[in-house]
Amino acid sequence: MSERPVSPARPVMGAPGALVVIISGPSGVGKDTIIEAMRRRGERPDRHYVITCTTRARRVYEEDGVHYHFRTAEEFARLRVEDGLLEAAEVHGNWYGTPRAQVADAIAAGQDAILKIDVQGARAVRDRIPGALLIFVVPPSIEELTARLVARSTETPEALARRMRNATAEMARAGDYDHVVVNETGQVERTAEAIEEIIAAEKARYPSRRLTV
Ligand code: 5GP
Repeated sequence: MSERPVSPARPVMGAPGALVVIISGPSGVGKDTIIEAMRRRGERPDRHYVITCTTRARRVYEEDGVHYHFRTAEEFARLRVEDGLLEAAEVHGNWYGTPRAQVADAIAAGQDAILKIDVQGARAVRDRIPGALLIFVVPPSIEELTARLVARSTETPEALARRMRNATAEMARAGDYDHVVVNETGQVERTAEAIEEIIAAEKARYPSRRLTV
C-alpha cells in the first residue's frame, strides 16, 4: 500500500538524521545502473530505494512493483488528486510520480529515502522538502550520452530523438543541485562510491536534522 494517500493536513516528521536523497540527471546517464551498484554494496536496513509510479509502457525486462508501479493514466490522475504523490512530472511524454507515503514511511522509520527522478521532479521535491540532498549525475559528454542511449535500444527512434532533445536542457540544470557527479564510462562502481561518500558526509553534517514530508 505504498501509494496510499497521506493527508496534506498531517505532515510526517522523519527520524533525526534521516535523509531524502535525489539522484537525477539526463535520460541515459546511467541512474539505474548506479542505483543497482549502490544496492549491490549490501543490504542496508537504513535505506529505502523508492519505487516510483509511471504511466509509461513496461519494458520487457521490467516488473511491476520492482522497477516501477506501472499505472494507467486514470489511476495516476487519481493518485495526484488524493495527494498521494510528492511530485509528478511529465517526462518524455509519459507521467512519473513519487509516492509520498513511501518517502514519509521511510524517513519516519529512520531510513534514508533514495529517489531516482528527473530534473523537474528534483526541483519540486526540493521546494517541498528544503533539506533534501540533490545529486546530479552527468555523462562525460553529450556524445557519450547519445551513444549510451542508442546502445540501450529501449526506445523507438522518435522517443530516442525526444530524449536527446531534452538532454541538453536537462544538463543546463546542474546548477540547481548540491553536488554534480560525472558517471565516467565503465566506472559505475566509482560513481556509486562517490554518491555514498556524499550521503555519508551529509549525514555526518546534520545528524539530528528532522525532515518533514
Ligand atoms: P525511464 O522512462 O527511462 O524509466 O525514466 C525517464 C525519466 O523519468 C528518468 O530521468 C527517471 O529518473 C525519471 N523518473 C522516474 N521516476 C520518476 C518520478 O517519480 N518522478 C519524476 N519526476 N521523474 C521520474
